[in-house]
Amino acid sequence: MADFYSVLGVERSASDDEIKKAYRKLAMTYHPDRNNGAKEAEERFKEITEAYDVLRDPQKRAAYDRYGEAGLRSGGAGFHHVDLSEALGIFMRDFGGFAGFEELFGGRAAASGPRPGADVKITMPLTLAEVASGVEKKITIKVLDPCDHCDGSGAEPGSKAQTCSTCSGTGEVRRAQRSFFGQFVTVAPCPTCHGEGRVIGTPCKKCRGEGRIRGEKELVVKVPAGVATGQYMTLRGVGNAGSRGAPRGDVHVMFEVADDTRFERDGEDLYTEVLVTYAQLALGADVSVPAISGHTMLTVPPGTQSGHVFHLRGRGLPRVNAGGTGDLHVRVQLWTPDRMTDEERQLVARLGELQPGVPADGRGKGFWAKMKEALGA
Ligand SMILES: [Zn+2]
Ligand SMILES: [Zn+2]
Repeated sequence: MADFYSVLGVERSASDDEIKKAYRKLAMTYHPDRNNGAKEAEERFKEITEAYDVLRDPQKRAAYDRYGEAGLRSGGAGFHHVDLSEALGIFMRDFGGFAGFEELFGGRAAASGPRPGADVKITMPLTLAEVASGVEKKITIKVLDPCDHCDGSGAEPGSKAQTCSTCSGTGEVRRAQRSFFGQFVTVAPCPTCHGEGRVIGTPCKKCRGEGRIRGEKELVVKVPAGVATGQYMTLRGVGNAGSRGAPRGDVHVMFEVADDTRFERDGEDLYTEVLVTYAQLALGADVSVPAISGHTMLTVPPGTQSGHVFHLRGRGLPRVNAGGTGDLHVRVQLWTPDRMTDEERQLVARLGELQPGVPADGRGKGFWAKMKEALGA
């Protein structure tokens, strides 16, 4: 049996907070729900939960520090190896299930009393066309619902929660400890009622006293037009049920817009490039250019230079939560054939004789002159 501190990867001097954080981080990785119930993950989850359950309790921790695991067995602190349902219960009790992206949304640490339900985070894939129009999507999420057998109270029907006799309902226990420096008092959550001040004599058989059961919920998400990857919306109060009647958490919907290789996106503006022939540039042509859904026609006037950018106003994406629509910028680029028929070769060669080089006035303003103009120089 590995040392509890090394199981959690913390120093022997770790604070309660550090122990809690270390456990939560590991539990997020090894929780059976996140590993499709894989056996190794399950074993590891039990192991870290066991270590956490001892080290979070000042009395058990002190006994363990002094005598190791033997101290826990003989000291009457009630150590035994936890089974999976106990481990899940401990995790649920202290962390209320998955808070999802704690770093992003600020985790809800365990506090005394009934806790609000954890937030649920889901990712919603979207296509560019859906972003352009906005879309209403129906999703099904897994959440904890109030237990229907005990109405979320956690007590078996007919029994009632009673004031905890260990802490007289305060949820805290004070311990005088003697140390080398004298006597000091520590305050810790009551180990009997886990800080709730009340104990359930007969826990509900269906939810094991948790007051919640696993369920599914169907939600309709109205995705506003113009959203981008990394943006999210929060649906308040539809996440996991809180423990024993506490309010539900939120659902965070993260948008993930699929890459559309035809475009570069910059906010509401889209950029694309089309290849055109020399004849199309020289003589003018209607060319097909990619648009959000399908294609649109662009009129290239005669004498257009390769590299010219056309701005199709209002053919970009809508501005999110604001009026207006961005533009579609289309750069036309001369296509050079890498293979030609004899006839094509003869025609191009003939053109080459007629146009042996670019005439001195042939380009109008050069690139650098245009650049200076654009910069207002
Ligand atoms: Zn129940
Ligand atoms: Zn108590």
